Amino acid sequence: MEKKIAIVGAGLSGSLLAIILAKKGYDVEVYERRPDMRKVEISAGRSINLALSDRGIKALKLADLDTDILKEAVPMFGRQIHLLGGSENFQSYSGREGEHINSVSRGGLNCQLMDKVEGLGIPIYFNQKCLGMDYKSSTLSFLNEETKEEYLIEVETAIATDGAGSAIRNDMQKKSASLRFSFSKAYLDHGYKELCIPPTEDGDFRMEKNALHIWPRGGYMLIALPNKDGSFTVTLFHPYDGENGLDALNTSSKARVFFEKQFPDALALMPSFDADWENNPTSSLATVKCYPWQVEGKSLLLGDSAHAIVPFYGQGMNCSFEDCVVFAEYLEKYKGDWEKIFSEYQKSRKKDTDAIATLAEDNFYEMRDHVSDENFMKKRKLETKMEQQFPEYYSKYSLVTFNADIPYSEAMRKGRAQDQLLLEICRETDDLDSLDLEKILQQIKSL
Ligand SMILES: Cc1cc2nc3c(=O)[nH]c(=O)nc-3n(C[C@H](O)[C@H](O)[C@H](O)COP(=O)(O)OP(=O)(O)OC[C@H]3O[C@@H](n4cnc5c(N)ncnc54)[C@H](O)[C@@H]3O)c2cc1C
Repeated sequence: MEKKIAIVGAGLSGSLLAIILAKKGYDVEVYERRPDMRKVEISAGRSINLALSDRGIKALKLADLDTDILKEAVPMFGRQIHLLGGSENFQSYSGREGEHINSVSRGGLNCQLMDKVEGLGIPIYFNQKCLGMDYKSSTLSFLNEETKEEYLIEVETAIATDGAGSAIRNDMQKKSASLRFSFSKAYLDHGYKELCIPPTEDGDFRMEKNALHIWPRGGYMLIALPNKDGSFTVTLFHPYDGENGLDALNTSSKARVFFEKQFPDALALMPSFDADWENNPTSSLATVKCYPWQVEGKSLLLGDSAHAIVPFYGQGMNCSFEDCVVFAEYLEKYKGDWEKIFSEYQKSRKKDTDAIATLAEDNFYEMRDHVSDENFMKKRKLETKMEQQFPEYYSKYSLVTFNADIPYSEAMRKGRAQDQLLLEICRETDDLDSLDLEKILQQIKSL
């Protein structure tokens, strides 16, 4: 039998990559550890919904799925900030008319991608857990989760899209001496727990629907993203340690006391708070970095398996989808020469995934500590004015989120320099209307 290209993991990036390869005429098959989520309810291990933005949309266009996915999304035009005491303010994501991010269901998106994969005649083998790879013989080993039998398949090449805990990456790590494989996993002191604000009895949203809600509280925060059915998925990002840390809040009654003090307005909208607190897992957050991503053209890590990041820029999936766009460019350039495709791809892509990992960690502190800070709010106002007046100006957030044509590394360099300049200007003036915006634009262009 002719050997095929095996994609390990039918998650978000694996399914998209399978579509891209199949559309280019490659012979692909997909192996997935879990059962088919279109037939069996899989309890949400993490993030029920995700923020999809321009980089992810650009990638979905390659699969002709962007329009269908966006039909199911809830647009979010900015951050709705909920201060302690109950007052709220809205901070637009962009000064350009209509620019927004999209709240999409993780399960819904994954199912749509898998439908398309199978629609192109590509098989997805469910309940097949990859155990590792023998590079000499290009053989993958699997465990059939239903029969508990182990078996081997010989492949032309394997692409590991098996997420942050990748089996193929773990296997590369074991062989690290010969590969000179570098690996790091840095945990945040914070974990997260998901909760829910259900729709009203009439099916309406209980808060502003077109916003990402944030309750910033210094050392921790609560966020909420809207779902199409009128509910919000709420996530508490919170330290494990300390008097009121996640480890200490080990019953719903203790958590309720904490929420009554810190998030009373949100708590009032969560009738199933106690059950959600008890039943939903508390999960950790980490940044995973490694290199190289490939072995002799025989296997490649792509998506979270190569670079898992913390979720505070809403870019993990967008970045993994962008991986597919960049990969497709090298696929086109070096058709079928896997060693060349993989090595050129990893060389060009690593600096950008490192950059978004850094930006995501930075944004945690920004969302948690600074969104309610006076000078930060002044800078956001100035950025919005600039974007309204000069469509060619992009704030750091917009460079990352709304400008899919600029690499993450360049967005970070330029965005940080702009931030520094604008914060300095804001510190020196009380009257934003007195500023010469044209002059600021020229300064920014020279950065
Ligand atoms: C709390 C949270 C919020 C987030 N919010 C956002 C957001 O708003 N926007 C955004 O862009 N990103 C967000 N992300 C990041 C996003 O979830 C990931 O970046 C994205 O899922 C990566 O896609 P992937 O296909 O690489 O991996 P995954 O989606 O994790 O898919 C991996 C697949 O491989 C399968 N698999 C695993 N091991 C094996 C094995 N041994 N054999 C076979 N199959 C296997 C899994 O079952 C799964 O189907 C968030 C993440 C978290 C944790």
